[in-house]
Amino acid sequence: MTSTQFDVIVVGAGVVGPAIATALARQGRKVLIVERSWEKPDRIVGELMQPAGLKALRELGMIQAVNNIEATFVEGYYIKYNDDVVSLKYMEKSKAQVTNPTHPVPGCVKDGNDKLLSDGVVDATDWEMDSRVRGIAFHHGDFLMNLRSIVKSEPNVTALQGNVTQIIRDDEQVVNGVKAKLTNADGSTEIQTFSSKLVVCCDGIYSKFRKELSKDNIPHTGSHFVGLNLVDAKLPMPHRGHVILGDHAPAIIYQISPHDTRILCAYRSTTPPSQTSNEFQEYLYNEVLPSLPKETQPSFLQALKSKKFKVMPNQYLAAKKQGAQRGLIMLGDSLNMRHPLTGGGMTVGLNDVALLAKLLQPEKVPDLQDYDKIATQLKLFHSRRKNLDAVINTLSIALYSLFAADKNSLKILQKGCFKYFLRGGDCMSGPMGLLSGMLPFPMLLFNHFFSVAFYAIYCNFIDRGLLGFLVAFFEAFEVIFTAIYIFSPYLWKELV
Ligand SMILES: Cc1cc2nc3c(=O)[nH]c(=O)nc-3n(C[C@H](O)[C@H](O)[C@H](O)COP(=O)(O)OP(=O)(O)OC[C@H]3O[C@@H](n4cnc5c(N)ncnc54)[C@H](O)[C@@H]3O)c2cc1C
Repeated sequence: MTSTQFDVIVVGAGVVGPAIATALARQGRKVLIVERSWEKPDRIVGELMQPAGLKALRELGMIQAVNNIEATFVEGYYIKYNDDVVSLKYMEKSKAQVTNPTHPVPGCVKDGNDKLLSDGVVDATDWEMDSRVRGIAFHHGDFLMNLRSIVKSEPNVTALQGNVTQIIRDDEQVVNGVKAKLTNADGSTEIQTFSSKLVVCCDGIYSKFRKELSKDNIPHTGSHFVGLNLVDAKLPMPHRGHVILGDHAPAIIYQISPHDTRILCAYRSTTPPSQTSNEFQEYLYNEVLPSLPKETQPSFLQALKSKKFKVMPNQYLAAKKQGAQRGLIMLGDSLNMRHPLTGGGMTVGLNDVALLAKLLQPEKVPDLQDYDKIATQLKLFHSRRKNLDAVINTLSIALYSLFAADKNSLKILQKGCFKYFLRGGDCMSGPMGLLSGMLPFPMLLFNHFFSVAFYAIYCNFIDRGLLGFLVAFFEAFEVIFTAIYIFSPYLWKELV
């Protein structure tokens, strides 16, 4: 057993780990990052990044992580609801610069590393000229490898391959390092301990260490996503995320490279579907396939025949207050999760990284062993992150509940929500600004959500007509009650 002293140890090199390790290293901290496997992962997560996620990458001087991976720009959404469609665009740059301006993280931006470059697929001038903000979609593994090569190129960073097995505390319960089972180049393994002033744990969705914050820090699984790769798929509106709504749970589609397009089909079950079960196959063939746009169906059918499915749980976890566990910080999915329907996980994680690095910069916290100061900064972190994270997390849960409607009141809300978008103007731009993370204002989300609820009630009265007035009257109460029930507890958990 050996021991080496670092300022910070980062556990995990997914999306968030390399970002925080790079930021702290650029600010002059000596950082160790330990990752279980530095090989390129093949996952169906983290493939569409919202504009506010790109904004955080710019603030961190890491925007070029989306270069040279054949990434495809995204300019909005296309929503298909049975036979009706609506297309929504991201907001104007001029407005976004006011509502969510870019503030570089001290010490992180230099030599133009906050500028997107042109590569074979990304045209930087075209991006610059677009009057609206954009998102981007890519192969998750390629993006991760870019983030990892950025962190490995930092002189203050030591990167090791190994499984962190234990968070170590001193006699006063202050976290002062980790124990890891390292994998050497020849494949042999050895246990080593490493000490540091601070451990930042970014061990992701299946986090082993989030219970270090408290025993009841357990995520809730509400449904699953089944992911398939569509080859050379035709989409009604290229460069848009496609949301397919109908009697089935929602499906989302987005192009992730010139030839590959991801489809994620939600499955209303807390246990993962057995991929060979008849029920699951019938669901995809008989319910999802017919509701897809006609031009997309052949590639989906091909993908179904290949039987290459990947299944992931859709989990929710509200962020705990931090600071009580001295020497330990949780970030990314180990701290906070939401439904992936709205593609907000990386956006929340990367904005948390930018915020934390601003709060821990050496001018504010010269000594990372000053745990009182760190606790004060973590209080600020918890309150300042709330606006963006409350909007993205609550919106993801609320939209999933509406889009996966399985009872009458939710179906009324679902229909009303779609008709609300069709009204255009603020009814379209507001929700898009919230979804993109460029309008991080929880009260605006509250206003739009309950405007949808009242508009849904109004539409239901019109649909029922004079003869159905009494039914619509009783349904109005049911709709309001359902809207409060699916929205308020989450907004409360996020904000309070
Ligand atoms: C189905 C699905 C689809 C999604 N789609 C999107 C999307 O389109 N857009 C979006 O923004 N978000 C999406 N998300 C969410 C997004 O993937 C996550 O928010 C993001 O990956 C979180 O990053 P992270 O670094 O916290 O965790 P991860 O990216 O999961 O990284 C964790 C890392 O820690 C390593 N690790 C774990 N334990 C240890 C250990 N003990 N020792 C050493 N290393 C360890 C792992 O190997 C891994 O590399 C999706 C999520 C799901 C479930």
